[in-house]
Amino acid sequence: MTFVMTINSGSSSLKFKLYDMPEEKVLCSGNCERVGEKSGIFTFKYDGKKEVSYPVFPNHAVAAKLVVDTLLEKGIIKDYDEIRAIGHRVVQGGKYFSSSAFFDEDTEKKIESLIPLAVLHNPAHLVCFRAFKEVLPNCPAVATFDTAFHQSMEPEDYVFPIPFVLTEKYDIRRYGAHGTSHQYLAQEGLKYLEGVEHPKIISCHIGSGASITAIKDGKCVATSMGLTPLGGIMMGTRTGDMDPSVFNYVVSVTGKSAEEVYQMFNKKSGFLGVSGISNDQRDIIEAADNGNPRAILANKLFNRRILDYIGQYYVRLGGCDLIIFSAGIGENEPRTRRDVCKALESSLGVKINEEVNAKLRGKDMLISLPESKVKVAVIPTDEEIMIARDAYNMCIKGKQ
Ligand code: AMP
Repeated sequence: MTFVMTINSGSSSLKFKLYDMPEEKVLCSGNCERVGEKSGIFTFKYDGKKEVSYPVFPNHAVAAKLVVDTLLEKGIIKDYDEIRAIGHRVVQGGKYFSSSAFFDEDTEKKIESLIPLAVLHNPAHLVCFRAFKEVLPNCPAVATFDTAFHQSMEPEDYVFPIPFVLTEKYDIRRYGAHGTSHQYLAQEGLKYLEGVEHPKIISCHIGSGASITAIKDGKCVATSMGLTPLGGIMMGTRTGDMDPSVFNYVVSVTGKSAEEVYQMFNKKSGFLGVSGISNDQRDIIEAADNGNPRAILANKLFNRRILDYIGQYYVRLGGCDLIIFSAGIGENEPRTRRDVCKALESSLGVKINEEVNAKLRGKDMLISLPESKVKVAVIPTDEEIMIARDAYNMCIKGKQ
């Protein structure tokens, strides 16, 4: 067995998965939640079982040690050294990384320098990387960046029309996010495009965070998220794109500070802000079914923003062979898919099988009819497998 672990860390959490590579078999997975708080939650899934305990995690190093010790205790590994590589998800790689990189001193420094662009995430990734380095000092690590896939954009697609001196001095530009997911979806989508030369794909990663990406020949051409994940389409709690003057106006009419309004746009807007009910689309759909007008509006707004981007990217790509729906809403909510596709029928000739769509949740399947001018598929995303593949390919395969 060749064990490769993937780590997805947040400021107070540490999610992990252990794979047997290159078979890509998931041996176990889990999550340490509430790291740094008085009581933690430790979830460990293996052999079809799920165990939950409540240890205290004063910091990520304690959480990392518990993860590895649990693998030993359960007999999944016999020795620390059996873990041959670790792949860390890193949210912001800025202009430095267009692919995964060995997590060495130079990578650490670059990730650190990008903290202003990912204030919560990049520090957590560094803390977690260091925590695992302490527990597994001999294990090589790789950083896989959410932004890397989007580095192939052209300047017209990533430069913001602000004074150029700012663009250059502070690297202010569109970086995008969810890149690992979009790249996975683009690769998986090819199975529906046999024989298509220069495939053009629009992938819709629509969950609590949501982004849409235009992909040609496997490369990102344009993506909806911006300097940070606040940009693009409306999301669970984020505004997405707006007239920038809304920011200034809200500051002036409410008397709130710029930081407070920024937090409001990130955490209290989107589905939550418009509906006043929830950031979870399932709650909004239930309220809409009961006739709640703001819930109805929130859903319509969400669909309209998705359509705006699909239209824009259809033009940007010069057509489209496949539209992919993924993430929590894209994989599980037939009505969003149906309403978006219906609205694309007259302009793009999109036609879906409504019966297949209505039943489809969490499965990889084509939902378009053979006569549809653009194919439409639901593909469950898997960022972890991309991270595990990179860690395996860089640390193990090349050295065998
Ligand atoms: P994500 O961030 O990808 O986990 O997506 C979360 C969003 O997906 C929320 O708005 C949920 O309402 C929506 N969703 C719809 N159906 C499901 C489901 N079966 N499981 C998880 N999320 C779902």
